[in-house]
Amino acid sequence: MESWQKLLSNSVVKVEDLPFLSDTSDEYREKLKEVTKVFPIRINSYFLDQIKEENDPLWRQVVPTLEELDDFLSEEELLESDPLNEEGDMPVPELVHRYPDRVLLMVNNQCPIICRFCTRKRKIGFPGIVTRETLRQGIDYIRNHPEIRDVILSGGDPLLVPDKELDRILSELRAIPHLEIIRIGTRVPGTLPQRITQDLCAILKKHHPLYFNLHFNHPSEITAEVEKACNMLADAGIPLGSQTVLLEGVNDDALVMRELMLKLLKIRVKPYYIYQADMTLGTDHFRTTVEKGLDIMKDLQGHISGMGVPYFVIDAPGGGGKVRLLPNMVLEHNEKEVVIKNYEGKVYRYPQPSVKTPQNGKKPQTIEATVSADSACPLSV
Ligand code: SF4
Repeated sequence: MESWQKLLSNSVVKVEDLPFLSDTSDEYREKLKEVTKVFPIRINSYFLDQIKEENDPLWRQVVPTLEELDDFLSEEELLESDPLNEEGDMPVPELVHRYPDRVLLMVNNQCPIICRFCTRKRKIGFPGIVTRETLRQGIDYIRNHPEIRDVILSGGDPLLVPDKELDRILSELRAIPHLEIIRIGTRVPGTLPQRITQDLCAILKKHHPLYFNLHFNHPSEITAEVEKACNMLADAGIPLGSQTVLLEGVNDDALVMRELMLKLLKIRVKPYYIYQADMTLGTDHFRTTVEKGLDIMKDLQGHISGMGVPYFVIDAPGGGGKVRLLPNMVLEHNEKEVVIKNYEGKVYRYPQPSVKTPQNGKKPQTIEATVSADSACPLSV
């Protein structure tokens, strides 16, 4: 098996080497070069092998298109280079402190692939953004803030940090008494699974409690190599969750999402979030309507077990944090009953419990249930 370092060093990084381009004219390539000045290319050779044709769901995630420049020309100016205002919540460079008890620490800004829809387009792949000094300041900040219980290591991708350095970062964090949980946000297991080695797992095991947030967008990302990598991580005792970004032309389809969630469960990964795409400059062509996401959620709730149904969230523009959205299944709600519809549109009535006022020591009265025993049994779901 080729080493992950070799697969990474053989990445496509130039327009001339892009796969499956139907327009090979010099003019088109020159325009694409303009795109890559704003946002570089990286497609590692493992991921490249998984792409089958132009415009397939993997191709769309990593190959630049001219649409990326359209937003810059838009007069509406709705989109931003930092749509979640992360820079506004950085008390020290490359550390986001938005919620009271947890922080996000960027440990590098390199990734196994560079995703064209990335929320951190402004940072990924450019040199000199995350340095030893920013890392030192970030760890010092956590050490000096006892209210911080939980850190998520992000970037970039923390698993592209060499073993020894990653061990050092995790050891420094683990030595902070008030820090209870360390999470790692990574797309490595799904896009460069060879990086998950026995050596890496041995390092990670030393730093529990450790949680991984993975990133998968399409069922075809789940290959035999990816399954092996996830099994190794799960066997190292690391709970694995996954986030998915809802992307036009990639996964904006209920059947595709169903297949993805079911495949994730089979490789021991719990679907955690589906994100509505952020309003990031250069990514407007990937955004779908919010209704599309709600329809997909309705379908998932009806067709797969609750364990495979993630939360659907919008990360509120400007830094408002994650807000969960649910399809509206409540038709009416009053003190007597709640009227609900299921995923097939069938309507059901659920009576509220009676008001329990003790009467002369007698048991409180209850109204008769009108829901049959079968339909009320939670185990039948
Ligand atoms: S792996 Fe994550 S951080 Fe890196 S480019 Fe893709 S979405 Fe952005």
